[in-house]
Amino acid sequence: MSGPVLGVLGGGQLGRMLALEARAMGVRTRLLDPAPDACSRGVGELTTAAFEDRAAIERFASGLTAATYEFENVPPETVERLAGLVSVHPGAASLVAASDRVAEREALIGAGFGVAKYRVVDGDGSLEEAVGAVGLPGVLKLRRGGYDGKGQMVVREASEVSGAETWRGGRGAIFEELIPFRRELSIVGMRGADGACRFFPITENVHRDGILLTSMAPAPGVSAEVEALARTHAARLMEELGHVGVLAVELFETGEGLIANEFAPRVHNTGHWTMDGAACGQFAQHVRAVLGLALGETRALGHAGMVNLVGCLPDIGRVLGVPGTRVHLYEKEARPGRKLGHVNVLAETAAERDARVAEVLVMLPEGALGGGG
Ligand code: ATP
Ligand code: MG
Repeated sequence: MSGPVLGVLGGGQLGRMLALEARAMGVRTRLLDPAPDACSRGVGELTTAAFEDRAAIERFASGLTAATYEFENVPPETVERLAGLVSVHPGAASLVAASDRVAEREALIGAGFGVAKYRVVDGDGSLEEAVGAVGLPGVLKLRRGGYDGKGQMVVREASEVSGAETWRGGRGAIFEELIPFRRELSIVGMRGADGACRFFPITENVHRDGILLTSMAPAPGVSAEVEALARTHAARLMEELGHVGVLAVELFETGEGLIANEFAPRVHNTGHWTMDGAACGQFAQHVRAVLGLALGETRALGHAGMVNLVGCLPDIGRVLGVPGTRVHLYEKEARPGRKLGHVNVLAETAAERDARVAEVLVMLPEGALGGGG
């Protein structure tokens, strides 16, 4: 191989889209994933190995210019080991903070974000105590390993507490208040190797069955003050972690302002619209940051929407017939609850964008979303 080579831990759709953007900039990609059929096969050089396989990590690192990860459940030791061989961004600190809900909340609070009232649940009977302190309704969330709403359980009534304890089965968790949010938002930003931070406009997100369904950006009705405050806090978070690369913070909008739910130290599903709807999209930005190159402009090009294609695909020909649409498919086998691709929708006005997104949504087949894994 000649030219820069970027290593990516994880070979799912995020790795795939990083590889596609890297390739466009003349950067080749090598991705490591335990699954031989990981969907980045074919767009980058795929190494099939467990994240814990030391010898494989050493072989993987050989010849890389820099490395990153696309998945926060990569063991931090793997990132540390890789960092001994090649420059890895974001560093292990970002990963460690994001992969444990307690450390994550502490980092968010330290950066100035408000978070839902919560208690740590670890020993026997401690859920009952936490419910007493936080109140009902609340959400029991495992400290580690959750994604797409998996690894959490809503507890509405006192009678549900013992069932929730059984479900937890001794695993470390937190119990937090259920926030009666007006809507869900996210802020996706990035920090360059020089420490400069940039942000895309705040995005409005709708989930169905715990999985992201749509994103709209710029989110309507977010005041300049709220946007500026979210940027200040997210920048502080990235600074404190020494983060280099893209980072996304998921937010709840409430009557009393924004509450941070979690952050991802990587490119994020709620930033997919930026591939077509921003001057320089999140995948290109991440590649630039990790390689120490100049960041691109984050300005929105119009009004963008994103519709996730989950479980089974619609008739792509019909989707492409809706003006302003661009389709991104991940070449994954259809399975209930699985993200198979997304549609980006661009328009000049918010109303036109909303109408186009609505047109795409009615094309989603019955089996899209809902259940499965
Ligand atoms: P993902 O990986 O898809 O972001 P996750 O499994 O890490 O999800 P969360 O983001 O914490 O889990 O929760 C998934 C969704 O559940 C949130 O987007 C939100 O809709 C709802 N939710 C989570 N926590 C709360 C809360 N405290 N109050 C109200 N709703 C919540
Ligand atoms: Mg989330």
